[in-house]
Amino acid sequence: MKDNIVAIATPLGFSAIGVIRLSGPDVIDIVKKIFIPKKEKDLKEVLSHTIHYGNIVYKNEIIDEVLVAVYKAPKSYTGEDMVEIFTHGSPIILEEILKILVEEGARIAERGEFTKRAFLNGKVDLLQAESINEIIRAESKIALKRALSKLKGELSRKLRDLKSKVEYLRIYLEASIDFPEDVEEKEKEDWIRNIEEIKKEVSDLLEKAEKGDWIREGYGVILVGRPNVGKSSLFNALMREDRAIVTPIPGTTRDYIEGELYLSSGHLVKIYDTAGLGIPKDILDKMGMERTEKILEKSNLILFVVDGSCEASEEEINLLEKIKSYQNKKLILVVNKIDLPQKVDLSVFPKDIEKIFVSAKERKGIEEIEKVIERHITSQDVEDGIFLNMYHREKLKEVYNLCEEGLNVLKNLPQSLDVLGDIIYDMDRAFGEILGEEVSLDITDKIFENFCVGK
Ligand code: GDP
Ligand code: ZN
Repeated sequence: MKDNIVAIATPLGFSAIGVIRLSGPDVIDIVKKIFIPKKEKDLKEVLSHTIHYGNIVYKNEIIDEVLVAVYKAPKSYTGEDMVEIFTHGSPIILEEILKILVEEGARIAERGEFTKRAFLNGKVDLLQAESINEIIRAESKIALKRALSKLKGELSRKLRDLKSKVEYLRIYLEASIDFPEDVEEKEKEDWIRNIEEIKKEVSDLLEKAEKGDWIREGYGVILVGRPNVGKSSLFNALMREDRAIVTPIPGTTRDYIEGELYLSSGHLVKIYDTAGLGIPKDILDKMGMERTEKILEKSNLILFVVDGSCEASEEEINLLEKIKSYQNKKLILVVNKIDLPQKVDLSVFPKDIEKIFVSAKERKGIEEIEKVIERHITSQDVEDGIFLNMYHREKLKEVYNLCEEGLNVLKNLPQSLDVLGDIIYDMDRAFGEILGEEVSLDITDKIFENFCVGK
């Protein structure tokens, strides 16, 4: 990492100011070549975290009047020397200065390279590095809050805690192998308890990660039901705009339509209007239904819509039964068209399903639906949702599986204590990989620290 990187840090377009950012060992020298401060001074000599006013001058031409901020290693975002140039927010000026800086020896930074350097220089761990991106991309207040907590290292601390528990087990095991004895029943119980505990905490984290998914991407609410019950009309009523096509011909919504809704609590909700589920009439219909099943999978709440002005069909009742048993999604029965004379016999539907009565046409009960969605969201503690990418999730699942393996091994003790060693070792490594740290443990030292040899 001996080279110097540069990038425009603000979005391209016309704005009040633009920021160009540099990081690397020679960035102050590079900027010095083109920056003429108003007050005679040497940028190399100034204090870290100071701002200086002057002109960017290239080939005797003033490019812009700017402010230059200097941050010196190691107390900077990346841990290297850094400079930020605050220009007027013209894309032409920004591009021009960028070009000049490259001519003077800087290289255009890759995506995320500043943060990557911060990670490689030990300023943040892998999870924190990731959270920086999540903060920038947060689409709701709650998502932002969760990303900020990740940056503060709450998740990292939790994982480090777990890792040290595993490390402790590893040390304990090494010592037991060095001083072989029969494993006593008491000891076996301790092992089982310890591994059960790790398994429980890992599965909690995975559950919270699922919550994190919808905090980040929106709480998924899907409208399903047979054609013509009024799903698209309800969708429109919820979105307060005419986005879905509403027609009296069944099967208009062949594909699905997605709409975003912000609840007053600051939660992002994604609402899906889908093709009616039932027996497909043609190939297009069939494709629509397959899509519906995909969305069903990623939704958190299912609104099963029926038409109160008709009797329920056999097919509809079966469909509801099928959906009810689908994974463990929250399900609500929405009885639509209450403005018309009611013919539906609600006793044909399962008794234990929550019901809401609405009229999409007259916009009755729409707020009721919103309240129910809100209640379902807030009944879960969103404060503990966490953001995990696929990589980290896979690693945690790996640990979870290793725990199960370990528990199996323990059932067959005493013969296989060293098999357990491999499992514990793999767990430790997996946590190290999550945090992005090398497993640099001096096991013998640790054994000495934690154990008395006279055991
Ligand atoms: P979808 O196939 O389930 O999406 O149903 P649509 O939203 O396309 O509606 C089908 C028909 O029912 C249309 O003619 C709507 O105008 C009508 N409709 C929808 N909601 C209501 C309602 O609350 N009351 C009445 N009277 N008609 C409705
Ligand atoms: Zn529709």
